[in-house]
Amino acid sequence: MTETRILIVGSGFGGLGAALRLKQRGIHDFLLLERAADLGGTWRDNTYPGCACDVESHLYSFSFAQNPDWSQWYSGQPEIRAYLQRCARDGGAMPHIRFEHDVQGARWDDSTRRWRVETSNGTFVAQFLVLATGPLSEPVLPVLPGLARFEGKTFHSARWDHTYDLTGKQVAVIGTGASAIQFVPEIQPRVAKLHLFQRTPPWVIPRLGHTIPRWQRTLFRRVPPLQRFARFCIYLYRELSLPLFRHPAAMRLAQAIARRHIRKAIADPVLRRKLTPDYTIGCKRILLSNDYYPALAQTNVEVVTSGIAEVRARSIVDGDGVERLVDALIFGTGFRPTEPPLATAIISRDGRTLAELWTGSPKAHLGTTVAGMPNFFILLGPNTGLGHTSVVFMTEGQIEHLLSAIAYMHENRIDVIEPRAEAQQQYVEAVDRRMRGTVWVAGGCASWYLDRTGRNSTLWPDFTWRFRKRVDRFKAEEYVTTHA
Ligand code: NAP
Repeated sequence: MTETRILIVGSGFGGLGAALRLKQRGIHDFLLLERAADLGGTWRDNTYPGCACDVESHLYSFSFAQNPDWSQWYSGQPEIRAYLQRCARDGGAMPHIRFEHDVQGARWDDSTRRWRVETSNGTFVAQFLVLATGPLSEPVLPVLPGLARFEGKTFHSARWDHTYDLTGKQVAVIGTGASAIQFVPEIQPRVAKLHLFQRTPPWVIPRLGHTIPRWQRTLFRRVPPLQRFARFCIYLYRELSLPLFRHPAAMRLAQAIARRHIRKAIADPVLRRKLTPDYTIGCKRILLSNDYYPALAQTNVEVVTSGIAEVRARSIVDGDGVERLVDALIFGTGFRPTEPPLATAIISRDGRTLAELWTGSPKAHLGTTVAGMPNFFILLGPNTGLGHTSVVFMTEGQIEHLLSAIAYMHENRIDVIEPRAEAQQQYVEAVDRRMRGTVWVAGGCASWYLDRTGRNSTLWPDFTWRFRKRVDRFKAEEYVTTHA
C-alpha cells in the first residue's frame, strides 16, 4: 500500500496540468496514476491519420508553459503529444507518474478521512483524489446486428491500428464527426473504395490555419510578450463568438459560409443534399476542414445515409438492402462523456457511487467538486466543456481551485472539505438557466453534449472568464469543512 497526500488519475492536459502547478507551488507529496505506458491522454490515444486540434495551439496549451515553437496554427497530434511530454519533463512531473496503474475503484473512508484507491498495480491511500480521466477517453462502439460475425478488420479512430495497411482495401467508415472528417481525406486516396456511413451530416466550415513561419517563431521565442499578445487576441476573438451560440438566429452567417463550402466542393446536387444538415450550426461541434468535401467528391467515395441493417462476415447491408463488400470497418463513432465508466467505481461517504449520485446527469459544484464526495476534484467535470474555445483555459481554473482549497485547508487546519449541497444546487441551476435558448440545447439536433436525461451536462454556456472568476478562488462558505 502506498500513501500520498494527493492522488491524480490521468495524465492528459488536466492531470498533468495539476501535477505541474502543484510542483510550482512547492507541493511534492502527490502521485499521478496513468493506466497506459505513456502520458498524454487523448493526445496519446488518438493517432489516426490527420489528427489535429481545431483550437489554435497558442491558446490550446498551458498559460504557464507557453511554447513559441508551435509549427502550425492548428498543430497536429504528434506535436501536441511532444509538447505534453516536454512539459512533464521540464516541470519535474515525471518522477510522480506511476504508469500502467489502471484505477479499478476508489472509496472514501470516513474513519481515516482518506481515499482508498485500488489499481491494477496495488493500493493507494490519499487525502485528496483528483479525477482527470477526461471526457473523451472511452471510445464508443455502435451496436450493429451481426457485427460479431464480421471477419474483416475493425478498429475505432481512437485506437487506430497502424499495422493494418488500408491500401487498395474496401473500407467502411461509420460516423462523420470531428475525428472522421480528419481521417477520411487522409485515407481516401489510398483505399480502393470508401463507404462513408453518415447518420447526421456535420456542419463544416473552412479551416484558416497555416504553418507558422520560422521568423515568427523566433520572434515569439525572443519576445515572449508578443506571443502572449497573440494568445490574448485568439482568446478575445473566440470569446466574442460566444453571443452567436447563445442566439441561434445569429448563426445564419456561419451557416451561409458552410453552405458555400459545400457548393464549392460538391457538384452533384444529390450528394450536396445529403451533406447539408437540417439543424442550426453549432448545435453539434462546428468542424473545420478544407479537404473533407473534396475527398467526398472523389469517385471512390460513396456517402451512405440509409443506415446499417446488418453486418455480415465480409460485407455490410444498408437500410435499403444494398450489400457492399468490406475489408475493414473503421468506427469514427466518438465517446460517451456523460457516463464515464469510473463513475460506477468511485464510492462516496454514504456508500453510493458517483454514478448513483448523478443518476444519469452529471452535476458538480463549479464543475469541479461533488456534494457527498469529500476531498474530491474532477477536472473537465460536468459543464466545463466548450463549444467555442480552449478547454485548457477551463481546466487551469479548476486546478487553481484545487490549489486554493489546499492552501486554505492548510492555513486553517482543515482536514476535509465537501461542497454544500445547496451551493452545488444553486450553481447547477444557474448553469442550466444560462444554457436555456442556446444553440447547444435549442439547435434542433441530438449531440453528445446531452446526457440520457436530455440535459446538457457537458458544456459551459457562458464566457470562460466568468467561469474563471467563479472557480479560481476557493470560497470556504460554499463548503462543509472538518477540522483536523
Ligand atoms: P463525434 O463527434 O461524437 O462523432 C461521432 C460520429 O459517429 C457522429 O457522426 C455520429 O452520428 C456517429 N455515430 C455514433 N454512433 C453511431 C451509430 N450507432 N450509427 C451510426 N453513426 C453513429 O466523435 P468524434 O468525431 O470522435 O469527436 C468527439 C469529440 O472529440 C469532438 O466533438 C471534439 O470535441 C473532439 N475532437 C476534436 C478534434 C479536433 O480538435 N479537431 C478532433 C477529433 C475529436 P450522429 O451525429 O448522428 O450522432
